Amino acid sequence: MKSLNLFKYSLLIISTILLAQNVAAKSSAPVEYPWYNYNDWYYKKSDSYKGWKYIVIHHSATNAGSVNAFNKFHTKQGYGGIAYHFVIGNGNGMKDGEVQATFRWKQQMSGTHVSVNSWDYNVFGIGICLVGNLEKKLPTKAQLKALKKLVSQLKSKHGIKGKNISGHKHVMHDDASGRREQTACPGKKLNLKELKN
Ligand SMILES: [Zn+2]
Repeated sequence: MKSLNLFKYSLLIISTILLAQNVAAKSSAPVEYPWYNYNDWYYKKSDSYKGWKYIVIHHSATNAGSVNAFNKFHTKQGYGGIAYHFVIGNGNGMKDGEVQATFRWKQQMSGTHVSVNSWDYNVFGIGICLVGNLEKKLPTKAQLKALKKLVSQLKSKHGIKGKNISGHKHVMHDDASGRREQTACPGKKLNLKELKN
């Protein structure tokens, strides 16, 4: 509880600083957006906000998992709480095919689900995580059904293009290097082609 309060307090301080900076800059320059800065809700609401542009699919690479479990784990890792916007359960930790929105979606905050090299995908990308190790095992039928439904809803509501729906491993770095995220996520057992159409 203490650390939660500390986190909230830090958010308040950071947002106050950002607010002051932005007022000074009259919102003309892009907002500096370092990794440790989790109060992206402010950034989202600023003039620089351009809405959701991408959907990035992840797997948990674990057999079991839930919003609560990932929230604890990612907090320890310094990601400012659960990295994703949505989690889809597989029957171990959450119901099979159950979709839960995380605080990031509820508060329309950026994610921390890809690396700092691809920050654009954190700021403008909706992160969806399927519980399971999809490098080794297929997602459940209920998970796939829920994923398709969620993606199609998000696509039409936010006007996200099919080409902007990708797996974590396909996300390109923000610079012109042509490099991609270094990960096997969301695993070779997940077919993403169907989601793009
Ligand atoms: Zn991932």
